[in-house]
Amino acid sequence: MEHIDLLVINANIITMNANREILKGYGLAIKKDIIIDIKKTDDLLNEYSGEKVIDAKGKYIFPGMINTHNHLFQVLFKGIGKEKDLIKWLEEAIQKPYFNISEEDIYLAATVGCIENIKSGVTTVVDYQYANGKPKLNDAVCQAFLDLGIRGILARGYTDSTDFPKYSGKEIVETEEDFFNDVKRLHKKYMNIPTIDIALAPGIIWVMSEDGFRKCAKLANELDTFNTIHTLETEEDNAYSLEKHGVSTIDFYEKTGILKSKFLAVHCAQINEKEIKKLKKYDVRVSYNAISNMLIGYKTLPVQDLLDEGIVVGIATDGAASNDNQNMMEVLKISPLWQKAFYRDPAVIPALKVVEMATIDGADAIYKKEQLGSLEIGKKADFFIFNHRKCNTAPLYDPIVRLVYSADENNVETTVIAGKVVMENGKIIGIDEDALYEKIQSTAEELWKRSNIEIV
Ligand SMILES: [Zn+2]
Repeated sequence: MEHIDLLVINANIITMNANREILKGYGLAIKKDIIIDIKKTDDLLNEYSGEKVIDAKGKYIFPGMINTHNHLFQVLFKGIGKEKDLIKWLEEAIQKPYFNISEEDIYLAATVGCIENIKSGVTTVVDYQYANGKPKLNDAVCQAFLDLGIRGILARGYTDSTDFPKYSGKEIVETEEDFFNDVKRLHKKYMNIPTIDIALAPGIIWVMSEDGFRKCAKLANELDTFNTIHTLETEEDNAYSLEKHGVSTIDFYEKTGILKSKFLAVHCAQINEKEIKKLKKYDVRVSYNAISNMLIGYKTLPVQDLLDEGIVVGIATDGAASNDNQNMMEVLKISPLWQKAFYRDPAVIPALKVVEMATIDGADAIYKKEQLGSLEIGKKADFFIFNHRKCNTAPLYDPIVRLVYSADENNVETTVIAGKVVMENGKIIGIDEDALYEKIQSTAEELWKRSNIEIV
């Protein structure tokens, strides 16, 4: 009998494999960070003993969800700047306090934000770190990933231009050389840590030069990582591109090589038919952020049109200042509801498609489909145990439908990432949560004070 690190037995496994099989009364055998076997519980127990054994009797195991777009620092700005359009919100609620943020502040924000992600079934977060000129802020977010055990992709932000006429953002905060050197430094620092990856986040179209975009495309290719950019979130995007570059945003991204690099486009709320075809031509991935788009009062991207074209779409919370939380369970429900209302068709984006977008398609959206997004032998052991025996989810008829439309954080009982139990029976391992929330309150109040934000 082989002794391994973790056995989960007596479960119903939502595999999200190619046939979308649901295996009832099965178990998972996990060695280090990999699923090495999936069998009927009795067969599994005949073959393996576990250093730790979790009996998930009658409960469901889902692959860990992938939150494809986030700004973890915004946990400190949760609730600030409501009822404002994007530009005003950025200027008044984000830019001002963001440039006062310290390493300790951002570490706390990332820790609290990742905890809410873990509690709502997320095992991988893409953190789009705004340009800031303080390289250590990126390291602080990665440290929070490491300390909690969550899988994280730190997308390092950059800006080299601030000439958008209606926008008075901060001056350029670092040189181009500093930025590219720091991306390489981060890449090198975390290259042997399998739970952390580094990507590039070259601002938004109006904070970057043509040359800057070209260099980001080139570096992403060199490091075999991806670019992620806020794309066509609002009308300002194309208006700026047409005025400045004489072509639309997507055509400009094509010209600069961004479309040819691995590219996760975020939002795409203003996208048209021609642009959808162009994204497909270059196999661009899209991150759909329903709640933040709704909160800022913009229209939705036509998700079904993208799916019909064969574009990979992941879903996301976005930052906590435009959501106003990190609860992926809400994203699971609101993402399809908005599409049904938009198309005036209850059949679009069925529950299974939403779970695909949160898992296997989400993994594809971040170029990690080979490792993440489904529960199969050889894949990373990232999953959560879903206990449906609660008032909001009992009785259970279809686990997929139940997860999407009825579940909340209380149904996520245990979360495992890279083979490690990071939350068990609702408790985050190794963290005093009450003390943490006390601390972030005083930290945030000090930051708001330094930034002249009135405390209500
Ligand atoms: Zn965003």
